Amino acid sequence: MKRTIIFLIAISFFNFSYAQEFSLVKQGKSGSRIIIPMKEMAIEMNAARVLQDYIHRILGARVRIRSDKRKPKNGEILIGNVNRPELQDVAIDKLAKDGFLLLNTGNKLIVAGGTEKGVLYGVYTFLEKYLDCRKYSSEVAYVPKQKTIVLDSIEDMQVPCFTFREVYYRDAYDEEYLDWYKLDCHGEIGSSREWGFWCHSFSQLLSPEEYSESHPEYFSFYNGKRHPESQLCLTNPEVLKIVCKNLKSEIDKNSEPLYWSVSQNDNTKYCRCPDCTVLDEQTGTSMGTLLPFINKVAEQFPDKIISTLAYQYTCKPPINIVSGKNVNIMLCNIESPRHVTLEKGDTLFCKDLNGWGHLTDNIILWDYVIQFPNLLAPFPNLRTLQPNVQYFRKNKVTAVFEQANRETGGEFAELRAYLLAKLLWDPDLNINEVMEDFLSGYYGNASEMIKKYINVLHDEMEQTGAKLSIFGNPVQAKESFLSDSLITAYNQIFDSSEKAVAASPDILMHVKSARASVYYAMLEIARDEKTGVRGAFITDDNGLLKPNPKMVAILNEFVSQCKSTGVSRVREWDTTPQEYFEKYTKFIEENSGKTVPELNK
Ligand SMILES: [Zn+2]
Repeated sequence: MKRTIIFLIAISFFNFSYAQEFSLVKQGKSGSRIIIPMKEMAIEMNAARVLQDYIHRILGARVRIRSDKRKPKNGEILIGNVNRPELQDVAIDKLAKDGFLLLNTGNKLIVAGGTEKGVLYGVYTFLEKYLDCRKYSSEVAYVPKQKTIVLDSIEDMQVPCFTFREVYYRDAYDEEYLDWYKLDCHGEIGSSREWGFWCHSFSQLLSPEEYSESHPEYFSFYNGKRHPESQLCLTNPEVLKIVCKNLKSEIDKNSEPLYWSVSQNDNTKYCRCPDCTVLDEQTGTSMGTLLPFINKVAEQFPDKIISTLAYQYTCKPPINIVSGKNVNIMLCNIESPRHVTLEKGDTLFCKDLNGWGHLTDNIILWDYVIQFPNLLAPFPNLRTLQPNVQYFRKNKVTAVFEQANRETGGEFAELRAYLLAKLLWDPDLNINEVMEDFLSGYYGNASEMIKKYINVLHDEMEQTGAKLSIFGNPVQAKESFLSDSLITAYNQIFDSSEKAVAASPDILMHVKSARASVYYAMLEIARDEKTGVRGAFITDDNGLLKPNPKMVAILNEFVSQCKSTGVSRVREWDTTPQEYFEKYTKFIEENSGKTVPELNK
């Protein structure tokens, strides 16, 4: 059993010291009971049932759930704020919203939690860390079978540094996955009780359809006229009134969420009317017009937190304006390079974040971690994930949204979701251990080879000085980490990997999914090169082009793999695997029979 004690926030508040063995179950028989408060909350019952279920799966023994009105006895597992003397020494208030305490007293196991999901998070951590259960994806889990569980010393209190933690992968919105990794969900895919509007809400709060003809002055002025399909003119007092009125009506309909985004639309067409321009110039940024507007909205909703985007033209914090006490700044790093850490590669972003840190203690960081137009392309940025998350924490970020793939699948989607989820809870974890654990659980006998592939990909990216952009493509890397010789090496690694797991169909599928990224890179490079050893075409004896049979086979294999694993799109928002196949096939058919000069016209 593991003895490590992790204090994510190092507070020790025990007046006692317990470190004794606790027999949960011996030889399949349990004298234990799970104890919940007589007036239990739903989360406590949920946590108790999860624990009961997993103990049953591990041991085949059923531990009963009982209320705390029963007489205390040894062997109890105390879930939540139960009426037992052991709980009197636990400072529940220090566990905040999501924190928890696991404590083995020798006679009892305490699972105490913060005000929201703390007890449930405590149970999942207990299952993973002390009973060696694993959940590698929504569908891939490992539950060890045992006859006996004897717990060693446990004194483990964890309170996260980020109050909101979201990993934007379809697979991560699985209900148990969310709870296992203590993740939040803003609601676009799952359901959220915390967020009313999430972002880009101006047009919802003041409709261009409703006002563009009667009141064009409500919208951005530039190039000599007003433009309804743009942003709002934020110095117009009527705009403030309408936005507040419509926001009130939305909150009246759905009063539970605490956070409401009042934020710019997804374009950079901000207002350059004389009044807006004056404010922008006085404060050195377009946030100089936006933030006073948001502060005024926030004043009218003192019980809510009004969130606004610091995005593209509003990233830079304003001079001499402090955000209101119930204002949240959602700072986005969409422009940042991804081959290096933010701290090394984006001084402008770092300056903005640092500046915001001086204006507010309520920042949600919107981070981007994949290549959006090429969701399956190799994107070796894994080594930047931990330093970036650590940098957010160091700079007073309180919440993080990791934007990955809104579609299903993606390059190393399960691995990325796993790493990000764990980092958001504990930015200082041993990332190599976590990665190794995932690789061995998810890729079985191929794990060492997959690790080698990942390492070579990253080493070569670093050594060749290649750049990574979230809007880039694999063709840009065709002479660096996706060179012809490296692609050959990657395919050899995958040939060996597939052989090593040939007897395990599920694991073979995981390996093939990882390999699909190499195939995608080959296909994109082949389309770009057209001819030559990496091209989509070969020439016949008459100098006429015909399809390169190797690339046709790769295309078929790639598309088939995507379809069999439910990859919904190869680009964000568009291009299903079938559409990719059809477009690629059309490209080959249209150019077959041409000469090379005709092709290059
Ligand atoms: Zn204006």
